[in-house]
Amino acid sequence: MSRLAEEIASFEPYTETEAAAKAELLRQLGTYGDTLLERDCPAGHITCSGFILSPDLTQTLMAYHLIYQSVGWTGGHADGDPDLLGVAIREAREETSVTRIYPLTRRILSIDILPVPPHEKHGVPVAAHQHFNVTYGLIAPTDQAVADKPDENRSVRWLYTDEIGEYCTEPQMMPIYEKLIARMRALSMRKAALPGELIAPMLAWYPAHHRDLPWRRTREPYHVWLSEIMLQQTRVEAVKGYYARFLESLPDIAALAECPEDKLLKLWEGLGYYNRVRNLQKAAQCIMHEHGGVFPTDYAAIRALPGIGDYTAGAVCSICYDLPTPAVDGNVLRVMARLQEDFRNVLDSKIKADMTAQLAAVYPSENAGMLTQSLIEIGAVVCVPNGAPHCGECPLQTLCMAYRHGSTGMLPVREKKNDRRIEQRTVFVMMCEGKIAIRKRPSQGLLASLWELPNVEGSLSPEDMIAQCSQWQASPRELTKIVERKHIFTHITWEMQGVFIECREMPDAFLWASPEELAETYSLPTAFRCILT
Ligand code: SF4
Repeated sequence: MSRLAEEIASFEPYTETEAAAKAELLRQLGTYGDTLLERDCPAGHITCSGFILSPDLTQTLMAYHLIYQSVGWTGGHADGDPDLLGVAIREAREETSVTRIYPLTRRILSIDILPVPPHEKHGVPVAAHQHFNVTYGLIAPTDQAVADKPDENRSVRWLYTDEIGEYCTEPQMMPIYEKLIARMRALSMRKAALPGELIAPMLAWYPAHHRDLPWRRTREPYHVWLSEIMLQQTRVEAVKGYYARFLESLPDIAALAECPEDKLLKLWEGLGYYNRVRNLQKAAQCIMHEHGGVFPTDYAAIRALPGIGDYTAGAVCSICYDLPTPAVDGNVLRVMARLQEDFRNVLDSKIKADMTAQLAAVYPSENAGMLTQSLIEIGAVVCVPNGAPHCGECPLQTLCMAYRHGSTGMLPVREKKNDRRIEQRTVFVMMCEGKIAIRKRPSQGLLASLWELPNVEGSLSPEDMIAQCSQWQASPRELTKIVERKHIFTHITWEMQGVFIECREMPDAFLWASPEELAETYSLPTAFRCILT
């Protein structure tokens, strides 16, 4: 069974209509295989929709579609791409211009067979056919700019979910939208309940399963604080010896505050990141001068000490004083992302703040310290960062949505900003006798085996564009237009110059297609189609 068929087979229908749609789609996949992803498949073709809701699930991002003359969801043709969720997200981005968008779950939310009436696209008639439409639930923050995709839609806007009926003139779509909203809300409520549900199993698990570490045998704030600072960027095993030597030499905050710098740095030698120990001493001096030598007991005062961030303040307050202050580090983010199957980027500070707030809302008034320790511990030894998590030993297994949906390997999402490569390309629209040159892309890599407009890497000058056409033996007659377009893939952005050149020859290296053939037979991926509009 292909990956595509497996994904379709994993969809759990909610209704008999959906069960029938799933069975029909699997039957057609059995007959046509991945050809069902292409527009020229005689049985119809697979399309991918994204139903976009705001994070609070009260609004949906929709557009007025020129073809359907109605307000509706975003989506488009798979055009050979078996990554259906990827297509749904890409189309949502292209049709609305939002960039921050993530799946509520990687699972298919709905499969519907949708009849498409005859219509015109770019002035070309398109016959009636059917879409095997696969829908995913997407979440997008509302604080980002939206824009129309001029050739396809207008009036991209957020609508409150109870307003859709006022703008949607396709009555057959309303039940679909309503079921998607209900499903996304149910799924979201399930996720929201999870932080509260994890507390009892974690507290039951921790006493018998945690590692016996020296700093876990004490609730003395100086000791806990020191261990947390040492454990930043350093392995547990390496910290043990340093921790013991440091406390033997500087047994209290007063001794740390007065320690000569040479001795201090010697005690830290080998741990690296020496700012950590310098800040430790500054904080100790602050405690001596401003807090009478007594470690403060409230979160704000602790957080205000040099070198203490949200994580360390949360850890010290909960472990030493049982205050309900979560300590959220990479381990805890990983557990939370997998538990809730949350595909948001955990490197985004807003997402971290949101997860921290979710935990803070359910932190217990008793055993807060044990909960903090248990979350850190499970992230370190069970829900591990490298390799497969040990779900079989995990007390959260029955709750974990990533485990249930088989998406643990995809989580957490850690996207560093600006790591998408930008590539300049020059794309040629070579025209001769009303036909346009296209060719097949290589069978491996980006847009593998799909049709493309001839293109080369780099941003060519007009002279070099003509020279390239000559090299292809198309006998360029006239350069008529240059347009600029951008297309965003997952890992790369193409910044394109599209050049329109009238030619005298039609060399055999290319397939020369009429506009009708381009619309009906040789579908171009959006990355190239956008040049033609
Ligand atoms: Fe992590 Fe697996 Fe536990 Fe989920 S079930 S929290 S993925 S170890």
